[in-house]
Amino acid sequence: MDIEAETPWDSTPDISARIVTAIGRIATVLRSGMWEVSLAEGLNPAQAEILQLLQYRTTGVRLSWLAKQLSISAASTSDSVAALVAKGLVRKAKAADDGRATALHLTPEGEAVAARLGHALSFADTAVARLPAGQQQQMLTGLFKLIAELQKTDRFPELRACLSCRHFEANKYPGQEVPHHCALVNAPLPISFLRIDCAEHAPADPLVQRRNWEAFA
Ligand code: SF4
Repeated sequence: MDIEAETPWDSTPDISARIVTAIGRIATVLRSGMWEVSLAEGLNPAQAEILQLLQYRTTGVRLSWLAKQLSISAASTSDSVAALVAKGLVRKAKAADDGRATALHLTPEGEAVAARLGHALSFADTAVARLPAGQQQQMLTGLFKLIAELQKTDRFPELRACLSCRHFEANKYPGQEVPHHCALVNAPLPISFLRIDCAEHAPADPLVQRRNWEAFA
């Protein structure tokens, strides 16, 4: 019987497992950074995230959409929203596209708190910015590809990313160094400029979205 020699690295987890562990650790550090600033503002993490999700969404959002983004139940989302309304940070209004539905908006005070929360992760931004530009671009591409894979499992909430935007024209310039295009600004869109959360985003047809993410994965 062949017995394979043991090496000192036999118990090392696969690289995929170590990447997931690293992302998980980074997420914990980011969460604790956000937690600190949220506490200082008198908010719990879900409330802080709701304020950030409402930021730059001038047409307002529905409660069900928020629950999906937060991956929590509609009832828990409703409790958090009620607390934010009581604090004067969120207001409810009739949805522009359906008078019977309610849309949630930030109040001016909510806008100010959301802006302060936006600086909570600047320590991580500084750390990433210290990496060489090429490595940052590789990392961004790798993260987009990972998100594209996760989108296939329906586990990733909707993003205002270029790949799901109706202004995004994939491979408009095939074979070119910058193959993609943003029709909104009518300019080629380099990978390093692809956005994950763009205020001008308009959802593309679901089939086109899936095709774009799959082409990228
Ligand atoms: S930059 Fe904004 S508007 Fe342009 S394709 Fe990306 S998400 Fe859409």
